[in-house]
Amino acid sequence: PSAARVVVIGGGTAGICVAARLRRAGLDGVCVLEPSPVHWYQPLWTLVGGGEAPLSASRRPQSSVTPRGVRWVRDRAVSVDPEERTVLTGDGQQLPYDALVLAPGVQLNWDRIPGLAQALGREAVSSNYDPEHAGHTWELIRAARSGTAVFTMPAGPVKCAGAPQKIAYLAADYWRKQGVLGDMRVILVLPTASIFSQPQWAAVLEGVAARYGIEVRYSSELVAVDGARREATIRDNAAGTSEVVGYDLMHATPPQSAPSWLAGGPLADPASPYGYAKVDKHTLRSPDFPQVFALGDAANLPTSKTGAAVRKQAPVAAANLLDALHGRQPSARYDGYTSCPLVTARHKMLLAEFDYELTARPSLPFIDTFRERTDMWLLKRYGLPALYWRLMLRGLA
Ligand code: FAD
Repeated sequence: PSAARVVVIGGGTAGICVAARLRRAGLDGVCVLEPSPVHWYQPLWTLVGGGEAPLSASRRPQSSVTPRGVRWVRDRAVSVDPEERTVLTGDGQQLPYDALVLAPGVQLNWDRIPGLAQALGREAVSSNYDPEHAGHTWELIRAARSGTAVFTMPAGPVKCAGAPQKIAYLAADYWRKQGVLGDMRVILVLPTASIFSQPQWAAVLEGVAARYGIEVRYSSELVAVDGARREATIRDNAAGTSEVVGYDLMHATPPQSAPSWLAGGPLADPASPYGYAKVDKHTLRSPDFPQVFALGDAANLPTSKTGAAVRKQAPVAAANLLDALHGRQPSARYDGYTSCPLVTARHKMLLAEFDYELTARPSLPFIDTFRERTDMWLLKRYGLPALYWRLMLRGLA
């Protein structure tokens, strides 16, 4: 199997972590299909939007993160034929595989909210979900002295479910320090009935939002934007009512789904309304096509989509793929571990770690992570990026 052809779709966090591990295990025929010349460390975008990190710290050339001995095909997948075991690329190449890793991340669907795409980057609307606009978030926050600030989260799974609210806390804390928070009305629009999926951290976050005087709108969604008038329509799905709110700045999180080619193809999970890939939640292997594995944001796993989750998924996907190539049953299991570093102030953070059962899974002993901590903020700003570039992407952590 050392010469087996393994195609990895996506050279983001998940794709590179798995490719590095397969290479370390001695596979020669690993190829990563990735159209972007740039690799991003997306968790830093929250701090870019909060004025606490430069965008350049989140970016490296794709060539520098592609493991030695792995072939980078600079092209994108447009379809997979799992019966024939081939991937069709945008340039019309057919890549045959013995094993396939699906890791193309999510698709950002800005156009699902009328008016949002037109207003983004202009009309006082920004988003940390696009590196082109994260810097604009900070310009808007820094310039605000009074008025209404709206922060939104769409319905459905999104990558880093904490990110839509973290930026609200960073902004509110900045305004507090400037002495203008009392002149700001801050509205956080959440589609869920609670502030966070894990109840213990939810209790802490409710206190954080209350401390800043943030109006949290539960079970609510942004459904339209009128950029010229600076008006957002917010629908309360529980009450069945809509309200038009005038804003002076808005941070929007776009609705997300699997990439269309995946959502519309044979590898999508019919149980996922968003078209994410169908895999066994413990082995990360397709129940229909035993040579196919999926992980990261594109996989339909009942846990929070984060890079921290990918860190625990990658060794499982790599080990089970090697088992498949050797004709063995999958030997490794993923338990749903995910982690969300919840920045709650300019130098404070809560590290929420939990699994499929929503059981708290602290990985740092003797540290009370239900308390907002400065050492955890330093971990997020400096420790985790170093762990990412130096160890994770090399298959060492
Ligand atoms: P990605 O890293 O997004 O990689 C997908 C790759 O696939 C991309 O390189 C893309 O170019 C490529 N691709 C797309 N389509 C195709 C195609 N057709 N063919 C080939 N390649 C394709 N996680 C944390 O753990 N902690 C955090 O604090 C955190 N904060 C975040 C804050 C923000 C604002 C955002 C946006 C994300 C955050 N995340 C955080 C989430 C984290 O970045 C993702 O969960 C992680 O990157 C998922 O890895 P992935 O490989 O599945 O997707």
